[in-house]
Amino acid sequence: MNINLKGKRALITGTSSGLGEVIAREFAAAGANIGLNYHSHPDAAEKIAEEIKKMGADVLTLQADVSDSTSVAGMVNTVVKKWGGVDILVNNAGIDGAHSLTWETDISEWEKVVKINLFGPFYCAREVLKYMITKKSGVILNITSVHENIPWSGYSAYAAAKAGLSMLTKTMAQEVGTSGIRVLSLAPGAIQTPINKSVWSNSANLSDLLKKIPLGRLGSTEEVARVAAFLVSDAASYMTGSTVFVDGAMIDYSNFTHGG
Ligand code: NAD
Repeated sequence: MNINLKGKRALITGTSSGLGEVIAREFAAAGANIGLNYHSHPDAAEKIAEEIKKMGADVLTLQADVSDSTSVAGMVNTVVKKWGGVDILVNNAGIDGAHSLTWETDISEWEKVVKINLFGPFYCAREVLKYMITKKSGVILNITSVHENIPWSGYSAYAAAKAGLSMLTKTMAQEVGTSGIRVLSLAPGAIQTPINKSVWSNSANLSDLLKKIPLGRLGSTEEVARVAAFLVSDAASYMTGSTVFVDGAMIDYSNFTHGG
């Protein structure tokens, strides 16, 4: 099945590295025009923009901090001025924050993780929905995590934010279903990107992580991006309000792989 996103206007957050970058390339390969949001690495974003333009896509490079509602409104305003609207939003930007037990956590650090991972997608969705509702079409894809389900000691802000984002997906899907708009979550498992370098670059940490994945390996960014492209395309036209896990069965209680 060929995924066709020809002429779709896709805004993707956090594209200067990792999953966001590869999702942008995958969507461009399927024919989409790409709004490349980045926060603090303009050189990386410009390099990716140049490469994607060569694939034939119209590309906008958009600096914005997703945790700042004014910054997000400005970014969406720029896209709408250039393109007249947005057909696809991928809320990908995220951080996991430093390991810290809840009672030892600095409040501003906890707030920062929740602001980027949960408020950010809300701010972006709120802005683009104004246009999608008028047009009566659109797709929002929220990148959550297996930690929307699996508790993660030392990362309470991340797990709480991703679980909250999953519920935001379901609630927005209810709100906009009859307006022809779909809202989905994609929950990656352990995918090799800069966010988890401290795990995959250390052999003891990696070996511990692999025991938690029934497929016995990390996922690649391409394996996630292919599913993302499917979910935002018309091929997934009856899917909304749910989470699709791309995790090698990490949520499948791997401790029970050999009985229990
Ligand atoms: P990454 O660190 O490469 O990408 C995160 C991106 O978000 C970066 O480009 C960063 O600049 C951007 N970002 C951070 N704060 C921002 C802000 N305030 N405004 C705009 N952009 C901001 O890591 P990744 O693995 O590609 O992560 C992408 C998404 O996937 C995140 O939401 C993450 O939680 C999720 N995820 C990743 C994994 C994994 O194993 N890699 C697993 C589950 C979920």
